Amino acid sequence: MPIGDPEIPDTMPAVICHGPGNYAIKEVPVPTPGPGQALVKVEAVGICASDLKCYRGASKFWGDDTRPAWAETEVIPGHEFVGTIAQVDDEASQRWGVTVGDRVTSEQIVPCWECRYCLRGAYHMCAPHDIYGFKRRTPGAMASYMVFPTEALVHKISSDLPPAHAAFVEPLACALHAVERANLGFGDVVVVAGCGPIGLGMVAGARAKSPAKIVSLDLAPDKLKLALECGADVAINIVEEDAIAAVKNLTDGYGADVYLEGTGHPSAVAQGLNILRKLGTFVEYSVFGSEVSVDWSIISDDKELDVLGAHLGPHTWPSAVRMLESHRLPMDKICTHQLPLSDFQKGLEMVARGSESVKVTLIP
Ligand SMILES: [Zn+2]
Ligand SMILES: [Zn+2]
Repeated sequence: MPIGDPEIPDTMPAVICHGPGNYAIKEVPVPTPGPGQALVKVEAVGICASDLKCYRGASKFWGDDTRPAWAETEVIPGHEFVGTIAQVDDEASQRWGVTVGDRVTSEQIVPCWECRYCLRGAYHMCAPHDIYGFKRRTPGAMASYMVFPTEALVHKISSDLPPAHAAFVEPLACALHAVERANLGFGDVVVVAGCGPIGLGMVAGARAKSPAKIVSLDLAPDKLKLALECGADVAINIVEEDAIAAVKNLTDGYGADVYLEGTGHPSAVAQGLNILRKLGTFVEYSVFGSEVSVDWSIISDDKELDVLGAHLGPHTWPSAVRMLESHRLPMDKICTHQLPLSDFQKGLEMVARGSESVKVTLIP
């Protein structure tokens, strides 16, 4: 017998993705959790740059000549969330160590636990790749309630944190994974491109690894200030200063050891290739709205670079939870806007402009 909140309504407002550019709020039935699942009352859901790219029809989501569509229509978006357990049975309660009223989050990917990647520990590359908010198997958090499937990876997170701050655990876990990919050394000069949610998380993660110097790049002065508060040693405004020359100055003319790319802008890729020293490490985290062209001979002949991709945040969620609970980040300044669910369109536009906001969060 599942136990739970007797106040659960029959219907709830939810954002529904009908296809690129076609999202609407609709009253839908509150989902009923099956055996071993949990019903969660959503407290906050962040709007991710990837939500915007999906909304705008990027081929990464809706396919092109080289790949099929991955996103599905008639799905509730939202993969960066926190909520409280509203209904749970013994099986789920024991599996996740949770009970009604606990504040929880779930990793954005719900692995199949059967494919080659899942079986070898790389569950973030799971072949079917069901991420909340993009697939019909895993409806997302832009609604009052959502269900955690039995395969979900669930983490408790302190209810002392404001909901928007707690929902930041997803982008932070992703940023920490990008940092892990770089395998930082104490002597490294690390350049982080972009001071958005991912870039700021990369700075905080890099700071925790204690390299020689962390350099942040952006074009917004207030975001660069925020990067310094997250742990950057140097903040360079790429509009006012030649970033490549500035980094060369900091490194006896050699260039950076590590470049973490978190902007999503094609120009930041060439910038990284040029800012790195020979044998440097480039970590790409961004999802791009279009193709990026660079001179690949920089990677081979010129510098023999290590170019590494990074996706999601495998095994980094407990660290991200700890980092948020330790209040090390200026979360009040990172979570700039909280809007009601009905303003999701306004939120998407805010993320698109990018100028006045860092993290926009919906409060259902
Ligand atoms: Zn995200
Ligand atoms: Zn799998």
